[in-house]
Amino acid sequence: MIIKMKKGATESNIDKVVTRIEDYGFTPDLSQGKGTMVIGVIGETHTVSEQKFKELAGVESVLRITRPYKLVSREYSSEDRIIEFGGVKIGGKNRPVVIAGPCSVENEEQIVRIAKEVKKAGADMLRGGAYKPRSSPYSFQGLGRPGLDYMALARKESGLPIVTEATGIHYHKIDNTPEEKDVLDNVLDYTDILQIGTRNMKSYGFLQTVAERTAKSGLPVLLKRGEEATIKEFLLSAEYIAGNGNPNVILCLRGIRTFEETRWQRYTSDIAAISVLKQESNLPVLFDPSHATGDRELVRQISLAAISAGADGLLVEAHYDPENAASDGPECVTSNVIADIVEDVKLFHQHFSGRFNR
Ligand code: PEP
Ligand code: MN
Repeated sequence: MIIKMKKGATESNIDKVVTRIEDYGFTPDLSQGKGTMVIGVIGETHTVSEQKFKELAGVESVLRITRPYKLVSREYSSEDRIIEFGGVKIGGKNRPVVIAGPCSVENEEQIVRIAKEVKKAGADMLRGGAYKPRSSPYSFQGLGRPGLDYMALARKESGLPIVTEATGIHYHKIDNTPEEKDVLDNVLDYTDILQIGTRNMKSYGFLQTVAERTAKSGLPVLLKRGEEATIKEFLLSAEYIAGNGNPNVILCLRGIRTFEETRWQRYTSDIAAISVLKQESNLPVLFDPSHATGDRELVRQISLAAISAGADGLLVEAHYDPENAASDGPECVTSNVIADIVEDVKLFHQHFSGRFNR
């Protein structure tokens, strides 16, 4: 529910509305709109009639959000949420960002080298996993905290902010010894954007813990779509984070499972979902053409398709030696392809962005 206050509403009018919201056990979310105060009511508001708020002094209108997801919906806020940090802006009318880097951090030399290469290619941020969610327990699980140290060094050497994944709140083991902090706390010690992977999109307890541990800092959270999740489920997962205290969520599509044979495409690129999400939600939307296709030969074209569909950025896997990458080599491009993608994005933004009402 959204309560719009009248232009001349006093502090005391607003306080009374807030008190009533709290009396019902809901949470108020105050934001100063253009000249008027707008108060979001967070909770199971269908149990209460709009009249209970309309009757209070200073209230202009009460609007019920019809979508199951509330804070992240366009209905709640028609304005694009822009995520801004360290000179990077994601969303709104800003040029789509390009985030590039390897699937996993392998060692210090590797991540520093690729960071410098993608920086030179024009990338806006560096990606790289220190904790890797692998289908097989026998595959490389990531370097853990030392990998984060290398990411931090790569950030310093390249000047690029970093995004890295937290796979849970378990204790990662190195040589059978658990690390001192859980995975999430380790990642929070370092990262500029926290990534939540496709497998965790429905780990609701984890989403809640992430929101609670980042509520104060407002650290941006990049949430990937579950590979078998519907758009509604995806947005509800985003709502778990926004509704538990951190509204700075970035949606990221990365391909979904269909009947398609994986020898052609690892997943199916859910390109139209970009446009749907932009209509349904106020959050920025990124596309990951690497996991979506699983094939470096397809990455550039699908990147442009995603930007054309309205994506606010791309998350692309890059490696200087894809054949020998520790994970996801077949979908890693080299930094010269990143340079081409950056150029495509800039050209598209310059010439076409206005045509699509962006
Ligand atoms: C990744 O970004 O390397 C990753 C593991 O992605 P996803 O969660 O989409 O599989
Ligand atoms: Mn990967």
